Amino acid sequence: MRKKIVAGNWKMNMSFEEGIRFAKSIDQYFREKPPVRAEVILCTPFIHLSGVSEIVKGGNVSLGAQNCASEASGAYTGEVSAYMIKSTGAEYVIIGHSERRTIFHEDDKQLNKKTVLALNSGLKVIFCCGEVKEQREEGNHFIIVKRQIEEGLFTLRAEEMKNIIIAYEPVWAIGTGLTATPDQAQEIHKYIRGLVKEKYGTKIADEIIILYGGSVKSSNAAEIFSNADVDGGLIGGASLKKEDFISIVEAV
Ligand code: PEP
Repeated sequence: MRKKIVAGNWKMNMSFEEGIRFAKSIDQYFREKPPVRAEVILCTPFIHLSGVSEIVKGGNVSLGAQNCASEASGAYTGEVSAYMIKSTGAEYVIIGHSERRTIFHEDDKQLNKKTVLALNSGLKVIFCCGEVKEQREEGNHFIIVKRQIEEGLFTLRAEEMKNIIIAYEPVWAIGTGLTATPDQAQEIHKYIRGLVKEKYGTKIADEIIILYGGSVKSSNAAEIFSNADVDGGLIGGASLKKEDFISIVEAV
């Protein structure tokens, strides 16, 4: 049985105080009522990491960042390295989110570099992939996802893959209220697992966690998560509301 994960991506929201207050209430809830089937991860902005790390210590919530630099250290004003993230106590980092790919023009090569740096710093990587609307409409979603995964991940050694979580996030579903149907999600998750199998073999393919992201809400979470190859979700908007996020975790 693969572990399930529900990761909240706060994106660029909340002041330091608001984030700390929110993290405290999520942490408190899952200490009193530990999630039975899913690991819960909060992926916060950089400024919240060390504060939230103190809060979640010893509890049932894990911590991640949303990005890291593509260089290890040095004269890169404004950047935050994987090593710095790890030093806050965070365990995870999201790499290749569609907002990074689109708005900040991060390409496959750069994302591969970030992934390697993150793994070398001892972080686990939530590696995002997914097609835009036109690519899905033209039937090119498989080719796009294949390229993103091959170029972003397939330079890794087999033993490094155990610290990789893949998040399939169709760009047309992120923050739009549109969601892939459970069948669409299952179809491409199975395809992704097949790619991993071709490259790394059955054991690694069976073990790799593949999350779905894109307008997951409390009303659709259970149906999406019930698919054989969907191992949980990466949640944006709904992770900012305590009740919604909790009910998504409990839908696993
Ligand atoms: C995301 O940002 O990863 C995401 C899935 O956002 P939303 O849930 O708001 O669509």
